[in-house]
Amino acid sequence: MKLTGRPSLFHFATAILLFSTVTLGLLTSRFVGEKESALEVTLSQSNMRLVAQTLERAEQSVLQTDKPLYDYLSLPDLPAVLEHMASAQSSLPPQVKHLYLLELDGSVLFPSEHADSISRFFRRKIFPQLQMDRITPLNVNHLHAAVDFRYSLYSLLKFQIPGEARTFLLVQEYDISDPDKLFMPIVQDLLKNYQICIRDYENNVVFGTPIPTPRKYFVEQRFPNTFYKWLFQLSPRNTFEIEQEEANRRLFNGALLAFNLVLILSAWLMVFVSRREEIRLTRQKEEFIRNVSHEMKTPLALIKMFSELLLMGRGKDESTRDEYLGIINAETERMTLLINNVLDFANLERGLQRVSLEELHLDEVVLKHLEAFDFRLKKENMSLTVSVEPGLPCIRGDRNALALVLLNLLDNAIKYAGEKNRRVDVRLYSEEKWVVLSVRDYGIGILPQELPRIFDKFFRSDNIAVRKVRGSGIGLSLVKYLVDAQKGDIRVESAPGEGSTFLVRFPRIDALPAS
Ligand code: ADP
Repeated sequence: MKLTGRPSLFHFATAILLFSTVTLGLLTSRFVGEKESALEVTLSQSNMRLVAQTLERAEQSVLQTDKPLYDYLSLPDLPAVLEHMASAQSSLPPQVKHLYLLELDGSVLFPSEHADSISRFFRRKIFPQLQMDRITPLNVNHLHAAVDFRYSLYSLLKFQIPGEARTFLLVQEYDISDPDKLFMPIVQDLLKNYQICIRDYENNVVFGTPIPTPRKYFVEQRFPNTFYKWLFQLSPRNTFEIEQEEANRRLFNGALLAFNLVLILSAWLMVFVSRREEIRLTRQKEEFIRNVSHEMKTPLALIKMFSELLLMGRGKDESTRDEYLGIINAETERMTLLINNVLDFANLERGLQRVSLEELHLDEVVLKHLEAFDFRLKKENMSLTVSVEPGLPCIRGDRNALALVLLNLLDNAIKYAGEKNRRVDVRLYSEEKWVVLSVRDYGIGILPQELPRIFDKFFRSDNIAVRKVRGSGIGLSLVKYLVDAQKGDIRVESAPGEGSTFLVRFPRIDALPAS
């Protein structure tokens, strides 16, 4: 199965995935950012509302006290006004210091005591701060004045008295010498959560504690009508915590976003890797099929050729006939090994291969199959040395599986024997807990970087010397599987140009736990 045509679809899907990941990332971060700034706006707005309400309350307390001034507008004449003032003067609310009645030129009609000095005071200190023509008549106006370095607050009502041609100014002077007394009742509830400060034009603190560097959510507003020379400032006490909380939230959101992006990207990477693996396996399988068909073709051609020669009576003397028959036999053996390998491998792939273990002598099995291999070795011009330690203990193994292991190792020893030292040594000996089968050749050897992979399915070296030799890349993976199934293990020691030694070990039966 070729995967041509798929890559473009895959690349298309990859592009879509990357695009949507990036878009999603951008959208999410924008959304989170917007949400945060919306939250900030809400917090600032609620603080601004709080300030406006507080200023309103402060002003209201003055405006309430101003209310009785309007009573004077309905009085019939000047004596009634003066009489009303005299009685009001005796019961002034605590925040009011004095009541005055003046003419616009500064002459004082009430109180009658110290009228001259009061008149002087108004003319010198107050009137210069007043724009008389901007005072709306019949309405209470306010003057927030700094007099002799102290702040005063005056309520002013410009009005006319029936029967009088003059215009009068009714003045109520407030006692604001102690701003704490003035503002504390109003801001008391806020002080728990907010820092509050009232400053004047010159930035002097009038009330509260100075707020150091204006931070986030800091709000300041001027008193609109009464104490208009003062600035009201408010800042949440937990600004630091709010900022910390915001930073944490930002960090958490960022981390979550990054984590999700990493997740998506790693999932994509996994798909990418598994797809590459799939392509690799498919290629390997294709090569495997090519190799197997090729490996079958050669022995079949030889068998066909030599059997035809025999049938045609070409083998006149016995030694030629024997030679032809030997070739036919060797090629049949080779095909049998190949077919067995393919079948067993197919079973193994489908998870069907089972070994049936029995107590046996490994040397017996090995020697029997070596005998059958003799002709092939001779034909391949290989010399064989066999050494068997006498009295080898038994193992638990499967005869067919063991034969396949041995034949594959010998087959490889022949295939990769090279030109020079065409020799293979088979040794059987025991170790403390094992019976060991060693198959050593003196051929081309294996590159160190390929050693960990030679037992992988379909692995074939890229070495040109290996590529010249026919092979399917399933022999050793099958050997490893069969050895594992018999509770053994397999190792290889090899160096390029010096040959390879395959060491297969099976547990000695006397070392196995009694079952
Ligand atoms: P095949 O021999 O059909 O290619 P195997 O699974 O038997 O497949 O072997 C896998 C690979 O291991 C071979 O292609 C070869 O590169 C390497 N190899 C196996 N046995 C030997 C050996 N005796 N000497 C050198 N290389 C070997």
